[in-house]
Amino acid sequence: MYEKYWQRMGDKTTVVISGWQFTSYFSDPKNLCWFLEPELAEEVVRLHRVVGNAITKDYHIVVGTGSSQLFQAALYALSSDASEPMSVVSAAPYYSSYPVITDCLKSGLYKWEGDAQAFDKSGPYIELVTSPNNPDGFVRQSVVNRSGGILVHDLAYYWPQYTPITTPADHDLMLFTVSKTTGHAGMRIGWALVKDEIIARKIVKYIELSTIGVSKDSQLRAAKVLRAVSDSCGVAHPFKEETFFGFSHHSMESRWMLLREAVNRSGIFSLPEFTPGFCNFWNRVFEPLPAFAWLKCGDGIEDCESFLRGHKIWTRSGRYFGVSPSYVRISMLDRDRTFNLFVKRLSRIRSQRRMRLEHVD
Ligand code: PMP
Repeated sequence: MYEKYWQRMGDKTTVVISGWQFTSYFSDPKNLCWFLEPELAEEVVRLHRVVGNAITKDYHIVVGTGSSQLFQAALYALSSDASEPMSVVSAAPYYSSYPVITDCLKSGLYKWEGDAQAFDKSGPYIELVTSPNNPDGFVRQSVVNRSGGILVHDLAYYWPQYTPITTPADHDLMLFTVSKTTGHAGMRIGWALVKDEIIARKIVKYIELSTIGVSKDSQLRAAKVLRAVSDSCGVAHPFKEETFFGFSHHSMESRWMLLREAVNRSGIFSLPEFTPGFCNFWNRVFEPLPAFAWLKCGDGIEDCESFLRGHKIWTRSGRYFGVSPSYVRISMLDRDRTFNLFVKRLSRIRSQRRMRLEHVD
């Protein structure tokens, strides 16, 4: 979806790297995260300051091959001293990759234990708090209310195109990614903000063991893209479409309007309703505009994914997210053409009742 914005920016984010450049494993040998390019570190700090969505002072920045690698590194770092496998939980509906990533190596260090709301095992645990949440877009806090828990905050969507920025986040371990910030999923760059030095060192260790660092080419490209985002916020009023967040926020607003219209027309589906919140970045109140639509099927349809596939709409079933298949997750970030086609197809679907009523009309 953001491709259009980056095309308009032309050469502003072009990076040229010659064959002789950036050949070493090392980026900043004196830094705790020795494979972090200083340019990227600088732009991460700057962007968080411009947006006001996270505190960076007194945090260690660790770069990863996407926040997916950092998630795995965090599991390792938080459980490496445990005497038995640590429970990993997240409130359903949770991001569908958490269970599969957690259990893919059948680690002796940690184990997926499912929905945090139903978690009643004793012993230490790791709770993943995704806010705003993938798949449903709600702002979240931890739900397991006891001691012995360590929280990992996945803040991939805590950016002003998706949700009101209410406060600078200052949790112990926070994950971010360019995939959702600027749309550059293919660059595979994410970063963790980590308060505790020992935990940060262990996260670095994991990345050292798994990939001996993170692509420098990608880090430099990410730095340039983040710089362009911060620069754009400085030269125009943030709400103008010349700014990255102005463009992305307006796009999300118009997409959500089109989707809600189509859903209302259908009489079959429903969407989450969000409470508007005051955003410190926009200096105004707005309703969350999540990167995913969490659609519920009514009319007695139990398997929403299959039902929609029959209407040539490809979605992901609620069962992957730990809930009923009457829900599906739909991406709101595809290219205009795909999104418009999706809304068109969805708006043609009518409930039996609505069809009868329209017939009488
Ligand atoms: N966390 C959440 C909540 C996500 O939705 C995603 C991407 N779908 C990721 C992490 C993974 O991000 P990355 O592309 O940086 O690995």
